[in-house]
Amino acid sequence: MESNSDCLFCRIVAGEIPATVVRETETTLAFRDIGPQAPVHVLVIPKEHYADVATLAQADPALAGEVLGTAAVVAESEGLLADGFRMIFNTGPYGGQEVFHAHAHVLGGEPLGPMRS
Ligand code: IMP
Repeated sequence: MESNSDCLFCRIVAGEIPATVVRETETTLAFRDIGPQAPVHVLVIPKEHYADVATLAQADPALAGEVLGTAAVVAESEGLLADGFRMIFNTGPYGGQEVFHAHAHVLGGEPLGPMRS
């Protein structure tokens, strides 16, 4: 499995940096964002290192699907399905990505409004 010792999220997968894990599968990990932007803010990552979701989806579409599946299970376990939630993948500099290990943000627990408000 590809891993990068300079990557923050690879180090979380390796257990070198603590995280509040809410779900783990063989291939994915979900943990609470350290700077939550909503009452629920969970990050879902593939354990294997891919720089962003576009790279991940092209290299391993099945793994990208597993990230989505884990995100959906997390949304359910966090009680977000009834009222809805937001799932976003910031991708590259223009997309506002700061950590270059593919990750879904799962946000909810209050009305989030339109993307541009
Ligand atoms: P990005 O801007 O889409 O790359 O999002 C990166 C996210 O990672 C931000 O929401 C940060 O708050 C979050 N983050 C950074 N370091 C940590 C950490 O150590 N644990 C959990 N979340 C983190």
